[in-house]
Amino acid sequence: MARILITSAIPYINGIKHLGNLVGSQLPADLYARYQRARGNEVMFLCATDEHGTPAELAAAKAGQPVAEYCAAMHKTQSALAEGFRLSFDHFGRSSSPQNHKLTQYFAGRLADNGLIEEVSERQVYSHADGRFLPDRYIEGTCPNCGYDKARGDQCENCTKQLDPTDLIDPRSAISGSTDLEVRETKHLYLRQSALKDDLDAWISSKTDWPVLTTSIAKKWLHDGDGLQDRGITRDLDWGVPVKRGEADWPGMEGKVFYVWFDAPIEYIAASAEWAEANGKTEADWERWWRTDKGADDVRYVQFMGKDNVPFHTLSFPATIKGSGDPWKLVDYIKSFNYLNYDGGQFSTSQGRGVFMDQALDILPSDYWRWWLLSHAPENSDSEFTWENFQTSVNKDLADVLGNFVSRITKFCRSKFGEEVPAGGTYGDREAALIAALETRVAAYQDHMDAIEIRKAAAELRAIWVLGNEYLQDAAPWAQFKTDPEAAAAVVRLALNLIGLYAALSAPFIPDASAKLTEAMALGDSPWPEDVRKALDRMQPGHAFTVPEVLFAKIADEDREDWQSRFSGVRD
Ligand SMILES: [Zn+2]
Repeated sequence: MARILITSAIPYINGIKHLGNLVGSQLPADLYARYQRARGNEVMFLCATDEHGTPAELAAAKAGQPVAEYCAAMHKTQSALAEGFRLSFDHFGRSSSPQNHKLTQYFAGRLADNGLIEEVSERQVYSHADGRFLPDRYIEGTCPNCGYDKARGDQCENCTKQLDPTDLIDPRSAISGSTDLEVRETKHLYLRQSALKDDLDAWISSKTDWPVLTTSIAKKWLHDGDGLQDRGITRDLDWGVPVKRGEADWPGMEGKVFYVWFDAPIEYIAASAEWAEANGKTEADWERWWRTDKGADDVRYVQFMGKDNVPFHTLSFPATIKGSGDPWKLVDYIKSFNYLNYDGGQFSTSQGRGVFMDQALDILPSDYWRWWLLSHAPENSDSEFTWENFQTSVNKDLADVLGNFVSRITKFCRSKFGEEVPAGGTYGDREAALIAALETRVAAYQDHMDAIEIRKAAAELRAIWVLGNEYLQDAAPWAQFKTDPEAAAAVVRLALNLIGLYAALSAPFIPDASAKLTEAMALGDSPWPEDVRKALDRMQPGHAFTVPEVLFAKIADEDREDWQSRFSGVRD
């Protein structure tokens, strides 16, 4: 039995995520976790909400709530949606947890002990009306280049010129609109990533099995321009992990917090500590996943994320881990994704364009979405959600291929033999050919799942469903029954057993439908078919079953058109 540690990039707290976010990390991570558990491996699957930073503060202010309350409520919302999509986390934590506070401060202390933290004095804009320093993007003014009057302190959106806040004409706070601003001296901590550059470069170079998308992004950041830059890891904010050097105060850093990008990946580790606390486990129970000196030597650690998160996971977080000098587990494989676009444009959280997780579950059960999203995962290039494609995929793959097979054979059996597996007849050449084809395809399916080639795995699973339909079409037990009912019984017996096989193989993609099939076939469970031939012998003559309800309803043209117009507009 192998031990697999799986983390999904942690979604930011300030609102409900769209389907593009979902397929970029959490959903494929869940597919892999479910598959590895089904293969009998020990899995620890972790995710969390990413709760610190200015956007959380602003979202809370907009909602009229204290930021801690806002985050607690939004964590519950995101957690319920994760359950709705059947994301099978062992723990869905919070980056604001006491465990993450402690670990973040611990790592900062270790990095400082090892000479990898530098204190830097900076000049930054302070707003008297807001009572705080303003991040560059929260200062607005007139662009000195083009005259656009809503240019941000980091960049002018109109002419794309990179700016410093002090370049702006008539600068004001984007939060309060106040012009009572002042440039003040402030001190920040920098992680000396440049000192770890060669070490990181060698480590990335050793990852020859990683997707090119992952390594090319890392190499670009390592070598483009002046190479890997040191990174500020503190901010002048209230909401976050207070800056401490381990458990000790950090002189000169009072009132400051760690930058959200420093503490967020550390939450992967903290989430397992939260898991231990929530489940009555010990520190040793979570450390055996993370400390190579405490049992994590044989753990394979796989991360899932969108391409925008790759630099932080290939460079910044490994710099934290390596720089600590402690034997923490480093990632073994990073599966990164391109973007999913929406119907001729992009998903947009700010414009409410596209389908968001709550809306998706309001109109259809999660399996419909899981199947489409995973079978169209943006692995090698960006992919696009269109309602036509979604309708076709659901109606063909799920309703016509899988659903129809199940409905046809169970109803035929009920009408001719009753609701139990019929006896009589023997398997011949046709059955031998089917079983051989299944063995080949199941092996290929497993290879794709092991390699996290999600589209290929989905195509193989669909091909396995198609084999059942082709077999029924070819054997035609409804015609056979009139002349040779025994032969028809043998076909029905094999086809009913195929439903059990499909329940097991399909579970990582469509867990609810799989559970329905397992229940209808009265199987109790659906263990992975390590031996296809044996799996097809599981239901013996006399085994009772029930005809399941319609597994997947087809999407009608009116519904498709209705949804298409409903989601093109603006969300409240
Ligand atoms: Zn401009």
